[in-house]
Amino acid sequence: MPSATFLHLPPEKRARFLRAARAEFARVPYADASINRMIRAAHIPRGSFYMYFANKEELFFYILEVYHGQLADAAAQILQETGGDLFAAFAQLYDRLSTPKKQEDLAEMRAILQRNAGIQQGQLLHCIQLEEIVRRLLPLVDRSKLLLRSPEELEDMFHILINVSGPALAAALLAALTLPATAAEESQDVRLAKVTALVKEALVKEGSTTPPRHFTEDTILKSMETAGVEDMPEDVERKGIGTPATRASILEKLVSTGLVERKKAKKITNLLPTQAGSSLVTVLPEVLQSPLLTADWEQRLGEVERGELSPEDFMAEIAAMVDELVKTYQPVPGAAVLFPSDKESVGPCPRCGGAVIESKKGFFCENRECRFVLWKNSKFFTAKKKTLTKAAAAALLKKGRVKLTGCFSEKTGETYDATAVLEDDGTKTNYKLVFDNG
Ligand SMILES: [Zn+2]
Repeated sequence: MPSATFLHLPPEKRARFLRAARAEFARVPYADASINRMIRAAHIPRGSFYMYFANKEELFFYILEVYHGQLADAAAQILQETGGDLFAAFAQLYDRLSTPKKQEDLAEMRAILQRNAGIQQGQLLHCIQLEEIVRRLLPLVDRSKLLLRSPEELEDMFHILINVSGPALAAALLAALTLPATAAEESQDVRLAKVTALVKEALVKEGSTTPPRHFTEDTILKSMETAGVEDMPEDVERKGIGTPATRASILEKLVSTGLVERKKAKKITNLLPTQAGSSLVTVLPEVLQSPLLTADWEQRLGEVERGELSPEDFMAEIAAMVDELVKTYQPVPGAAVLFPSDKESVGPCPRCGGAVIESKKGFFCENRECRFVLWKNSKFFTAKKKTLTKAAAAALLKKGRVKLTGCFSEKTGETYDATAVLEDDGTKTNYKLVFDNG
């Protein structure tokens, strides 16, 4: 992300700089793009650039991010035009991108993509603000056109659709460049066939490259030593993650907490993230994932050591950061899927369909926002000297009713059998007693 300074620039100055940057990236491949030329073209003082962006890479991905935003705008517009038909909208977006048009924005986007066609698709996908796009488009989808078993399913489907169609949409954009101008008059079928061929070609190329090697104990320790070094200021004394003394124990901690596992393959022991590890990285705020953060803390600890910073101030800074993160961090939507509960589901929640889980005081819906609960000590049961057992809760969730035997009557002091019927108005649950014989 660009700095707050950049985002607070007068819109005209910001636009002027981005225009110059886009033009430079469209003119030459990323490696040859010159920050100096951008600055000169935008008439911005040399020193200002690094107040806006950490480096060229950040600027490049920011520009791609803005493009993704524009594509999301287009998708939103098409979704509205198709009356919320998700699949028709994606097909139309694809068609629109693959049609040669003289829109200046699209032409520049194409040129930048083409100049940098060597960049791994995975890297291009990496900078898509997927959650942001999903959040924007989700409300525009007509759910009745889809066969959904639960509300969450739409979100999952969306993620898959964007991941799968992302490379195809990029290929459509590029194809519009490489196809002859007469393509505009060709029928949609012919154009689609040509683009499909290009996509296949791109996928074959992608598949023929070797994936990066997994980390071993040795290589990961070396990487920790140099992690993030390019982004760190010159004067940082301790770079990388941890110190030589703590790096090995950081790894052990990751293994013992189940975030990383050692797996042997062909006599080499690799360190692989577990499902929980990958999920954690997905939901963790970016600032906590950055090696710059640990480097910054190491720097601060050095200051404490030399008496330049009081330990209290150091801790106060960390507390303030945690406080800020907890208050402002937006949970990743759909994250519940990433962390499947290992607790057994007692039954489906009648309000949201989520899993209902037993805990000490009752049976709670796993989906916290839902707030559905069956209390174990509800007056309905305690008055009858009964407790709500797991089996009874399961029956209530499955059939909406449960047969109770040996209920105590306060009036007569005797016991009786009856059926409890669950009544839920969406905010409160109640029970109704029904007698079998009248
Ligand atoms: Zn629920």
